Amino acid sequence: MNQPQSWEARAEEYSLYGFTDMPSVHQRGTVVVTHGEGPYIVDVHGRRYLDANSGLWNMVAGFDHKGLIEAAKAQYERFPGYHSFFGRMSDQTVMLSEKLIEVSPFNRGRVFYTNSGSEANDTMVKILWFMHAAEGKPQKRKILTRWNAYHGVTAVSASMTGKPYNSVFGLPLPGFLHLTCPHYWRFGAEGETEEQFVKRLAKELEDTIEREGADTIAGFFAEPVMGAGGVIPPAKGYFQAILPILQKHDIPMVSDEVICGFGRTGNTWGCQTYDYMPDAIISSKNLTAGFFPMGAVILSGALGDRVQAAVEAIEEFPHGFTASGHPVGCAIALKAIDVVMNEGLADNVKRLAPRFEAGLQRIAQNPNIGEYRGVGFMWALEAVKDKATKTPFDGSLSVSERIANTCTDLGLICRPLGQSVVLCPPFIMTEGQMDEMFEKLEKALDKVFAEVA
Ligand SMILES: *Cc1c(COP(=O)(O)O)cnc(C)c1O
Repeated sequence: MNQPQSWEARAEEYSLYGFTDMPSVHQRGTVVVTHGEGPYIVDVHGRRYLDANSGLWNMVAGFDHKGLIEAAKAQYERFPGYHSFFGRMSDQTVMLSEKLIEVSPFNRGRVFYTNSGSEANDTMVKILWFMHAAEGKPQKRKILTRWNAYHGVTAVSASMTGKPYNSVFGLPLPGFLHLTCPHYWRFGAEGETEEQFVKRLAKELEDTIEREGADTIAGFFAEPVMGAGGVIPPAKGYFQAILPILQKHDIPMVSDEVICGFGRTGNTWGCQTYDYMPDAIISSKNLTAGFFPMGAVILSGALGDRVQAAVEAIEEFPHGFTASGHPVGCAIALKAIDVVMNEGLADNVKRLAPRFEAGLQRIAQNPNIGEYRGVGFMWALEAVKDKATKTPFDGSLSVSERIANTCTDLGLICRPLGQSVVLCPPFIMTEGQMDEMFEKLEKALDKVFAEVA
């Protein structure tokens, strides 16, 4: 219970909490954080927690990276803010766009900036609507995504998100269609092979395009690995089956790399890990290593040409945020890309990913763990009541909440998602810290499964 005037009481009195289980908060109080040290956060009581979620996937260089802090300070002193309207933009913005195309899978292209991943997806939808209309297809507006996808929270990006909780807002908006989630372990039919599962999903896409009409579909958005859906890597061959169908019908494919981008999957981009070439990439979260709110839409050369032609035709793209291409954000992003790619962070993910997997494989022998899954530095364990039948625990037991809360008590932050627990630590995590993570997690699993089994 909260003491009067405590940090916890003050937080609850004045805050409207987002994506927070309120019964847990009322019972346990809020963790009020003052600062971080490497991959650890410290609360107002001086308690330390190993943050195995990198904040919210984004603090990949930890919570006190000196080089990033210096880059921010230096840019604040030099030029603390500007916009990108009316033919003006900062030098940092010019340099970052150049850099993003250089590190993208595209040999040329164009970049547009936002303040978040949601706004970047929203912007991408508007770009597609704008482009198709300029090309004489104003009715080419529907958006295809998948169930369990997470694309953000604005009215449009929430409509793209394939989660039942958005019904409380009366979303999705009309014209946002959701296809089957490519999670073979959960959605593969009885007796169906992974290959047959992928064929079924490809056929579903073809049938959907046929039913709706290709001329009514503006684009297809997908995360390489679904993040907030519970860390769901695609079924084998999924993107290879989907891409040719989209190309045949001139439906641009947008890779939402807000989580996968910049090394999370073991390569710079998730589309490289899963070997496909999108028409556009959405980046945010770790674009600035979490040190500045920022998102980017990265268009391939070919798509960028089409969009630019549409812009030239009416002489202006009537879209932008006040802080689009903010010079401090761009300076931090330039430094973050350098830190991840050249200071050994991306290499650390590659080097430790097999160790990560081996640890989870061992823990997954627990009779109440149904599946472990993931890639690089993004993994999940899914709890089940019955391993053989994959039967979940009764929802009222809140098993994953309990595991996460027990972990918090032990000084480890991990995230409950459905019946899964998500682990996506900062790229700087060492072997010793990884051992600490597994040790605390196993303790929590043993305790909770003993209570609910
Ligand atoms: C977090 C996330 C978003 C939304 O980003 P915000 O900055 O929270 O708006 C979009 N897509 C994916 C894949 C994400 O993980």
